[in-house]
Amino acid sequence: MPTAPDRLCIICNRRKPAPQFERKGEHIVPRFLGNRRLRTPFVCRACNGALGGTVDLALKSAPGVAAACFNRGVGRGGGDRSSGQPVRLSSIFGEYYGDGGGRDRSDDPLKNPAVKGAVLKIAYESAHLRLGDAYLADPAAVAAREMLSALINKDKERACGLIDAVELYAIDISAFHAAMRAPRSDFVKRAIAGKSCLNSIWIVPLKPRPAGGSGPLAVVTDIEGLPPSYILIGESPYGINAAELIFPKL
Ligand SMILES: [Zn+2]
Repeated sequence: MPTAPDRLCIICNRRKPAPQFERKGEHIVPRFLGNRRLRTPFVCRACNGALGGTVDLALKSAPGVAAACFNRGVGRGGGDRSSGQPVRLSSIFGEYYGDGGGRDRSDDPLKNPAVKGAVLKIAYESAHLRLGDAYLADPAAVAAREMLSALINKDKERACGLIDAVELYAIDISAFHAAMRAPRSDFVKRAIAGKSCLNSIWIVPLKPRPAGGSGPLAVVTDIEGLPPSYILIGESPYGINAAELIFPKL
């Protein structure tokens, strides 16, 4: 009887037989944030369990996220204040790119190591799902994988050192949506219609560049309970020339 081909786990970086993976895949954005369909088949059961007990648990405990979970079903309020004017991505990111915005508030969730680890996990898995195995060799992907492995192996000192080196950049999400020429409510409606997720995740080139040219890529996350933010995920082109929404493709 032929055996099923082995599958690569992108967290422990080992090939394992298919039965050692969750049948329906691992939730990229945790279920407690409303995600049903955005999953990856490339995380083994052992790593999935370990991530659930570390980064996912830490995210669930973060103050803003805990409140959002408690208030599920209630809108975030505030609405979209975008002017409807197209905004160049460079003008949105330029202010933050390079120095992280300079703020250093201890109550800033984006400085919280647990939140950073959780968002990095979401960015790493969604980037791999969209960009394929070529992404795994990218220095940003290697760093993310090492950090997640250290967390899973309970090597806290190493994990904290690696997480410290990660910067989460705050983003003006209404300006971002204006640049994408659609308000947040449109994305949320599509997500709900697709039963995928109440949260937005995008992969975007950070700066305009010539066709085929390379430049930094980022995952933009608009996760309930957290400030909208982005994380750098790579430096190579991967054939991405325009912003692309991930979840409707699944
Ligand atoms: Zn694994």
